[in-house]
Amino acid sequence: MHHPEKRSHNTSNLHCQCHVMRLFSLLNKAFNGIPSSSKLLLVFSLSGGGLVAYSESQSTSATNNTEVERLANKKKVVVLGTGWASASFLKDLDISSYDVRVVSPRNYFAFTPLLPSVTCGTVEARSIVEPIRNIVKKKNGEIQFWEAECTKIDAANKKVFCHSNIDANLVGKKEFSLDYDYLVIATGAEVNTFNTPGVVEHCHFLKEVEDAQKIRTSVIDCFEQAILPELTEEERRINLHFVIVGGGPTGVEFAAELHDFIYEDLVKLYPMVRDLVSITLIQSGDHILNTYDSRISSFAEQKFARDGIDVRTGCRVLSVTDKEVNMKIKSTGEYVPLPHGMVVWSTGVTTRPVVKDFMEQIGQGKRRVLATNEWLRVKGREDVYAIGDCATIDQRKVMEDIAAIFKAADKDNSGILNVEEFQDIIDDILIRYPQVDLHLQSEHLSSVTDLLNDPEGNAMKEVDIERFKSALSHVDSQLKSLPATAQVAAQQGTYLSRCFNRWEKCKTQPEGPRRFKGSGRYEFLPFRYKHFGQFAPLGGEQAAAELPGDWVSVGRSTQWLWYSVYASKQVSWRTRVLVISDWTRRFIFGRDSSGI
Ligand code: FAD
Ligand code: MG
Repeated sequence: MHHPEKRSHNTSNLHCQCHVMRLFSLLNKAFNGIPSSSKLLLVFSLSGGGLVAYSESQSTSATNNTEVERLANKKKVVVLGTGWASASFLKDLDISSYDVRVVSPRNYFAFTPLLPSVTCGTVEARSIVEPIRNIVKKKNGEIQFWEAECTKIDAANKKVFCHSNIDANLVGKKEFSLDYDYLVIATGAEVNTFNTPGVVEHCHFLKEVEDAQKIRTSVIDCFEQAILPELTEEERRINLHFVIVGGGPTGVEFAAELHDFIYEDLVKLYPMVRDLVSITLIQSGDHILNTYDSRISSFAEQKFARDGIDVRTGCRVLSVTDKEVNMKIKSTGEYVPLPHGMVVWSTGVTTRPVVKDFMEQIGQGKRRVLATNEWLRVKGREDVYAIGDCATIDQRKVMEDIAAIFKAADKDNSGILNVEEFQDIIDDILIRYPQVDLHLQSEHLSSVTDLLNDPEGNAMKEVDIERFKSALSHVDSQLKSLPATAQVAAQQGTYLSRCFNRWEKCKTQPEGPRRFKGSGRYEFLPFRYKHFGQFAPLGGEQAAAELPGDWVSVGRSTQWLWYSVYASKQVSWRTRVLVISDWTRRFIFGRDSSGI
């Protein structure tokens, strides 16, 4: 049958399509006229009436010899990983003088701070990931990306060996190797099980997006199993016992999310088991969130006590089976079995095997974590950098260099340092040894020269080496390693890309502090971490935050601050829109409880 209305609609659609085609070919011509410009392709989605702009950068192929030569002269940079450190390194890297290759087993960047929200469907998994190819798209060339895992770093031959984990039945080799001039290791860290038996087999982790998705289905499974008809009440209770091991930020945030999911959404759908649900959080230390301000950790403990989350501090998990978590109460030495429906293991991270192997090759085998210097260069290697969770900065101690500092400062070689001589090198000391600044702050000293005061607090006009040593002797106690956080990783990535971008310039015009041992200056300023504070979302629209300047804020308004900070920190507008709309959806409709 003929349908007049429909036909007219179709004609107008066709009409419109013609216009679009004409516009498109016009645009195409216009852009083709400009060689090597990036092509802009406009796709009109007629049915939805929406407009999607899609830009595809196309580098011109190297046609002439000079271009080929230029490419051959480019330094080969291999980057391992697509996490926080690597993504922020690649985002700002100027690739005009580097040939960059990225290898990672996952072809996307994941916004990990929102992973706990994915476990309960507050935010969808796809809302917090961004394809790495979108991030590395550059106007002036190409960054190659290969989805594979680096299985070995061969430091002596400057090579990495890689293996693709794509397990589909496809043809071709899965192994390859890459040569590098510079290697940037940003492989993050892996979950630390402390070799506890049964953890790998029977616990969920919360590290990757897949982990969060598995947790989500597993929670629903526990409820569906618990309400099957022929179970005893005790069996229902066990299935609905959720155990979380680890009272750090991730464990605490997950416990809070799970509590909200259960009591805001699931109990309405499974009212018959409402009173059988329980959540236990096991922490080996005396307090949860023990890296936070004590006001925050006690606020969290009180909130969890009100919520009915059973926080067991001072307990150590000895093993996990499919039925039970076996823990030991440290104070009494008593063993307690906890039957469970599901366990989430979140007790911190440790070095990945591939990095461990690399450490052995370069003489760092005895260390726990790969060490770099303050410029993020791996100790003992000229050509390897390590950023993010996979490494730690080995900050130079003032006391190791004290004689050299004194000698450099004592310009007239008198064996005595006067105030003017000292003032001359203060800036370099403060840059080279950030612990000096921290020491001044903790001692409430207004100026570095106050350090030279005698024990009675009188200003000294001049000091000898012994007095100088004792003046600075406490400074190194301020040294502490940076936490394994996204904040640190991202800042390190940005810092390193800036160094790479300015390399040529800084070789001739060094911007770093003077070398106390040896002569001249360092090419670059050392990496300096800026702490912007940290959050602990605690559920029920309550959060705690530690902000710069010893400022602690807790409650509902802090949760709103959390929403706005995490919305603004998204890597792209696409994910920002997705995350905000997920939050809005959750406010209106609650979380989805389908077991998919
Ligand atoms: P990652 O981001 O872990 O990236 C490592 C990359 O290396 C990945 O792409 C991985 O696939 C790849 N890789 C692994 N092995 C290999 C290999 N052999 N070869 C090549 N590539 C490899 N930090 C905060 O500051 N604030 C928060 O709120 C916060 N919340 C968190 C919540 C959760 C649930 C988790 C797990 C972490 C959270 N963190 C948070 C910590 C933060 O995610 C990490 O510190 C950060 O991801 C470290 O960045 P990275 O680049 O070093 O490692
Ligand atoms: Mg002198």
